[in-house]
Amino acid sequence: MKIIVVGSSHAGYEAVQTLLKDTPESDIHLYEKGSTVSFLSCGIQSYLEGVSNSLDELHYANEVSYEEQGVHVHTNSEVTDIDAKAKTITVQTADGESKTNYDKLILTPGAIPFQLPVEGTDLENVFYLRGRNWADKVKNRMDSAKKAVVIGAGYIGVEVMEAFAKKGMDTTIIDTLDQILPTYLDKEFTTILEKDLKERGVKVQTKEMVKEIIGESGAVTKVITNKGEYEADTVVIASGIRPATAWLKGLVKLDSKGMIEVDEYMQTSEADIFAAGDATTIPFNPTHSKVNIALASNARRQGIVAAKNISKPVMKMMGVQGTSGLALFDYHFATTGVKALDAYQCEEEVTSCYVEEKIRPDFMYEKDNTVMMKIYYEKESHIIKGAQLMSKEDITASINTMAVVIEAGWTLEHLARTDFFFQPEYNRPWNYLNVLAMKALGESYGSDTMLF
Ligand SMILES: Cc1cc2nc3c(=O)[nH]c(=O)nc-3n(C[C@H](O)[C@H](O)[C@H](O)COP(=O)(O)OP(=O)(O)OC[C@H]3O[C@@H](n4cnc5c(N)ncnc54)[C@H](O)[C@@H]3O)c2cc1C
Repeated sequence: MKIIVVGSSHAGYEAVQTLLKDTPESDIHLYEKGSTVSFLSCGIQSYLEGVSNSLDELHYANEVSYEEQGVHVHTNSEVTDIDAKAKTITVQTADGESKTNYDKLILTPGAIPFQLPVEGTDLENVFYLRGRNWADKVKNRMDSAKKAVVIGAGYIGVEVMEAFAKKGMDTTIIDTLDQILPTYLDKEFTTILEKDLKERGVKVQTKEMVKEIIGESGAVTKVITNKGEYEADTVVIASGIRPATAWLKGLVKLDSKGMIEVDEYMQTSEADIFAAGDATTIPFNPTHSKVNIALASNARRQGIVAAKNISKPVMKMMGVQGTSGLALFDYHFATTGVKALDAYQCEEEVTSCYVEEKIRPDFMYEKDNTVMMKIYYEKESHIIKGAQLMSKEDITASINTMAVVIEAGWTLEHLARTDFFFQPEYNRPWNYLNVLAMKALGESYGSDTMLF
């Protein structure tokens, strides 16, 4: 059986690894339009900040490792067409166009940065940020850049803004919405982060719409918004992504946003064509709907499921909570499930509770060990639908507990009493997640020492 995988990033990589285990006799071909394979965009910030020393360190597979596994790798090979009846794909390379046949096809074309519809995006020193080539360009630019504007305050914009600010660049971040990280955290958290950023000299310009990028002699000099002008010798546009599916129009079913429609087995509208990753939607447990959550963690799970079902349907795609964690200067934070932005999409009425709590008893540490938490739950049933955590301590792993709680359909009552360990070095007699649920229920709890 000849299986072609299109796209070598997280979804394509996991699909290939699964095929190697499940169908070792198959003839696996990996097509990638870029010049390298399997680059970890998630590691770009570490490269920009000089934590990882080389872009080569950020590949989780390369041509040699795939070839050693018996996979035929075709780089600089863009798949431009599919004939599902004849079971062939058309491939464009520097040598021209050719057709090749397949028995099964797995599409993982992923996403591309949203092209901001304003004048000036083609000026020198204006960058997007995804994949190895852009990472390379931005890092090179950082050697001489002095004044940067980052357009878009989602997590990618925030990551590059942090790298610029740490480098000592005069940095401004602009977003049309009224807070940074709007799809990540609620305002109780972002107000603190924004204050911290301003104290560090970063200019945070929310509720501003970029109208134009201006240049002189072909290079960027200024960003114009509906409210002001910001000088810049470097601009990074991180204003969202779009599925890389324009070429698939009319070949497989796409939804209104251009996402590839897949069933629970990751099968497309065509019998022998599967799809996975950022170009598809994923079941979102809190709302029981299918949404696009562009995360490597999701793409990897989908890649496995697509490959498992290649011969016959054996594994359904499980729902996710969109769980994600990040650091910004001294703060660590994480999110799972619904938040202010999408809580209204739950089937039942949802409410929330914000709590601040000390992680350990005061006698253990003098430094600030507060954890800020927010929980979303159904008003009537108390079923938990979302959570956010933030602290100067690394509490991010606890969000995985909350992801499980949501997936399992637990209530506040269940979380309030569930068995979490106590050891003063790590926590208080009631773990902060117990406390979060108790406070949402309006309950109090016994103190850990007489000093409290
Ligand atoms: C800066 C940054 C940081 C991130 N950090 C995190 C993180 O910390 N955690 C996390 O979970 N996620 C993170 N993400 C998101 C994560 O990188 C994506 O969700 C993930 O890469 C999606 O994988 P994918 O396989 O669907 O597609 P993509 O990574 O988009 O890759 C698609 C691949 O297919 C190739 N391709 C596309 N079309 C064709 C074609 N027609 N023919 C041949 N090849 C084609 C492309 O060249 C590309 O290599 C980050 C993203 C960025 C940009």
